[in-house]
Amino acid sequence: MTGLPVLITASNKPRIYEMDAAGLAAWCESKDFPEYRAEQIRRWIFGRRANDFSEMHDVPAALRNEMASEFSLFPARVEKHQIASDRTEKLLLELSDGQLIECVLMRETDRRTICISTQVGCAMGCVFCASGLLGLKRNLTTGEILEQVLRLDRLLPKGEQITNVVVMGIGEPLANLKSLIPALDTLNEKGGLGLGARRITISTVGLPDKIRELAKLGKQYNLAVSLHAPNNELRNRLVPVNDKIGVDAILEAADDYFAVTGRRVTYEYVLLSGVNDEPYHARELAKRLQSRIAHVNLIPMNGVTELEFVAPTAPRTDEFVQVLESFGIPATVRKRKGADIDAACGQLRLSRELKPTVVE
Ligand code: SAH
Repeated sequence: MTGLPVLITASNKPRIYEMDAAGLAAWCESKDFPEYRAEQIRRWIFGRRANDFSEMHDVPAALRNEMASEFSLFPARVEKHQIASDRTEKLLLELSDGQLIECVLMRETDRRTICISTQVGCAMGCVFCASGLLGLKRNLTTGEILEQVLRLDRLLPKGEQITNVVVMGIGEPLANLKSLIPALDTLNEKGGLGLGARRITISTVGLPDKIRELAKLGKQYNLAVSLHAPNNELRNRLVPVNDKIGVDAILEAADDYFAVTGRRVTYEYVLLSGVNDEPYHARELAKRLQSRIAHVNLIPMNGVTELEFVAPTAPRTDEFVQVLESFGIPATVRKRKGADIDAACGQLRLSRELKPTVVE
């Protein structure tokens, strides 16, 4: 031991919103301040968009100092902030251990939807996805998930608010429920962002046990299941983890989710030209879903430089939709947002991570 003092930088302190409302109230009391100070602090974080403890001017200076010495607010570093021509904005954030994550703000007339990440990388290995190409590094903490939300919220002008959250960024959300659920609870909570569970969609590769665990929470989250193929033979090729799970087990878990929550399940289906986009694939998918209250969201393949898959043409995509609709299955084609900034999650991180190995 050298006896040198350990330098604690701001980025090593826990984020104050890692604690829930009760936790913050208890912390205030432990510092001999009344509980209501916690509500005040949370209003600054979630409603008044404070970027620093010093801005919380109606909180006593002594309490602000205590907070600043124990906690951080936005310790991640913005490595990149991109704005697309359709005003989609993307943040590439560097975490305290140097890992990179992405999150996106999308604008539509009356909606401000954000897309957030739950892991650094992904272990699922879907063959068309940029996020899994380098494997899984680690789970995000609750604070790291919330920092994405709060930072994107601060990109909005006064008077505009986040209306929807999609947990469709980097990672498999159901493989990190431990961090995700407290983060979503905070967004739900009175005094949080006031986002009802029905405005939150969790997208999963399809982990049956975890789908049931989510259902048991008694919340009205929307569930989106990434099916991408109507049978095991094809799905095993596109989504390698399917090998141990199987389409039937996923559909049964999704049925249970619907039975418990009453929320119609969305099935996502990435359209890969010449791979899973034939009319007979659409027919097989329709037959699988026909007895269910389901909705299909078709996602034309978003180009990833390192991968060869491409999206089908528009007429071919329309044909797929028509087949599904002829069976009475409602289907929509996902609009591309932020096409000029690589807004599909995982692409920016991937290009950054691969950069050192690129030989010019
Ligand atoms: N792990 C979660 C979240 C993944 S991202 C899941 O599997 O659902 C959200 C959706 O985008 C998933 O359906 C995913 O399969 C899809 N996706 C991934 N890469 C894509 C790409 N290059 N083009 C289009 N969709 C893609």
